[in-house]
Amino acid sequence: MKSILAGRQRALLERFARPGVLVALDFDGTLAPIVAHRRRARMRVGTRRALARLARLCPVVVISGRARADAARRVAGLGVRAVIGNHGAEPAPRAAALRARVRRWSELLRGRLAGLAGVTLEDKRYSLTVHYRQAHDPRAARRAILAALEGLRGVRLIGGKFVFNLVARTAPDKGRAVERERRRLRCGRVIYVGDDDTDEDVFALATRRTVLAVRVGASRTSRAEYCVREQLEIDELLAAIARALACSTRPRGAENGRKPRSR
Ligand SMILES: [Mg+2]
Repeated sequence: MKSILAGRQRALLERFARPGVLVALDFDGTLAPIVAHRRRARMRVGTRRALARLARLCPVVVISGRARADAARRVAGLGVRAVIGNHGAEPAPRAAALRARVRRWSELLRGRLAGLAGVTLEDKRYSLTVHYRQAHDPRAARRAILAALEGLRGVRLIGGKFVFNLVARTAPDKGRAVERERRRLRCGRVIYVGDDDTDEDVFALATRRTVLAVRVGASRTSRAEYCVREQLEIDELLAAIARALACSTRPRGAENGRKPRSR
């Protein structure tokens, strides 16, 4: 996996980072470092500043696995155009039916997971997350959780960093959410940054030449072609995109004689 900030890839990044680009970002592990207690996840001051600057230069959206309101609180006041929650499923059409289904899973699992120390069930209305970061024996916890999930209908199970995400098979995923936002905001290209299994739905879109997929942390199994080496580098990546945009929106830099898209 090549670093998008290194050598040759910089030119590719600069080709994407021009007027008409949408920057879409995951939150946990991407904009904010992963922390032991998820409620305490927050961006560094430098990341906030870089994100606010970028949001003045192009549309920026955040697509998180958190409930939408939760993610929105964490990026409030920075000029982000939209916050999508629940791995792409919030907001979504047929929300009531989706909620009813997730509630059934939630009620079932609450009983089944009750005795497992260090395992918590988070009900985010339109998806569930089972966390086991706090378990003494994460492997044993994984096995027990998988056993508890048996028989749930219509579930798409997405792994992650000490979590299992349960989303409805019929609900929009992050890939669909990115495409929807790209069309809504009339952008021709997308730079997407994420760090986990649920971001693979967006990385899979990168076979189209309109999506630049960047993973936080190199991985052999990811469909993303590019990465930043660690979460700390997100500030540099946001700044690099902003710099490229600032250069290309100067009158002299208007590409191919076309006027930059107005915002
Ligand atoms: Mg993440």
